[in-house]
Amino acid sequence: MNKTIALEQTHIVPTYVRPEIVFTHGEGPYLFAEDGKRYLDFTSGIAVTSLGHSHPEWVAAVQEQAAKLVHVSNLYHTEPHVGVAKRLADHSFGDRVFFCNSGTEATEGALKFARKYAKQSGNADKVNLIGFSAGFHGRTIGALAVTYKEKYRAPFAPVMPGATFGTFNDIDALEDLIDENTAAVIVEPMQGEGGVNPADREFLQGLRALCDKHGALLIFDEVQVGLGRTGKLWGHEHAGVAPDIMTLAKPLANGLPIGAIVCSEKVAQVMAPGDHGSTFAAGPLVCRAAEVTFDIINQPEFLAHVTEMGNYLQAELNKIESSHIKEVRGIGLLIGIELDIEVGPLVAAARDHGLLAISAGPNVLRLAPALTITKAHADEALAVLKQILATD
Ligand SMILES: *Cc1c(COP(=O)(O)O)cnc(C)c1O
Repeated sequence: MNKTIALEQTHIVPTYVRPEIVFTHGEGPYLFAEDGKRYLDFTSGIAVTSLGHSHPEWVAAVQEQAAKLVHVSNLYHTEPHVGVAKRLADHSFGDRVFFCNSGTEATEGALKFARKYAKQSGNADKVNLIGFSAGFHGRTIGALAVTYKEKYRAPFAPVMPGATFGTFNDIDALEDLIDENTAAVIVEPMQGEGGVNPADREFLQGLRALCDKHGALLIFDEVQVGLGRTGKLWGHEHAGVAPDIMTLAKPLANGLPIGAIVCSEKVAQVMAPGDHGSTFAAGPLVCRAAEVTFDIINQPEFLAHVTEMGNYLQAELNKIESSHIKEVRGIGLLIGIELDIEVGPLVAAARDHGLLAISAGPNVLRLAPALTITKAHADEALAVLKQILATD
């Protein structure tokens, strides 16, 4: 057996099942393995490396910053920290940003902000949180409480109390759940892990109205769909609805660990010195990486390219004659292919043909390539997908 894989089987906590490939480097949308084999990466490390691997501008910025300053902690000021915050505030509904190190931490922070905001109302019972069916918000105890999948929560019960679930895209069902004791409602504008499910425009607009009616905060989890993945900077732009808090993470620094909680001034003002913190977060290295990543993504031509490639992929996928394809859906370059069969063997078959894709639940094949792919890359992926999906 490969030495790296053998060591993993002895020394790594067995929470992951990985294929027998050891990657050594990447370039653009391609990954290269130890055995010399090249793979077209339509996972982007789960919607993280949106600029592709080893993007030259990103590499140059990170190398330069690494040689200058990497970490001083949040005890002191550094410039890249505010550089990213200003970009996010200037180009979103938000006014202020709190940085953390991952998506689940962004959820935790958002829930803390919401609980503290609700306390200011004077209603001590205003602590409840509402998530939705098939929603995913992370793996720590608080984020798990609003993550729908029972399998993720049950082994670690009790998770944080106070959370319930509405039905995704069913606004009428929410009316029975939300009340004056609701502190916040958290939703993904398009669900990623839960099966690539776009939220209806009316649903998100209805959530905004119900939150306003009951004095609850609306949190959009844009960890997977934010920052250009859908062809707009933010996933919620498709619905024309702004939240009170938005969480970001996956692609923000194109692969270095970072999370962000973007919020309105009224939310930010309930947080006081000492209320929340992080040793690592907002360091100059990750923030410099985020500045460069943001500046590349936040260009009209870049975003238009995402839409064009996404539309092309969806149109071509819809042409595949397969008795197993039930639906092709998604927005921009987050695409789900719902099947009437288990997706696991298809992920393996694609990999054997040199294409990396991921599942999103048991029956959905998820494509999340770098946002920089060309039509030639799309065609290369489509050829593999045709081969493994076509039936007669
Ligand atoms: C991945 C993801 C998270 C969790 O992010 P981590 O960085 O893995 O903790 C939260 N919300 C959504 C929508 C995600 O896709």
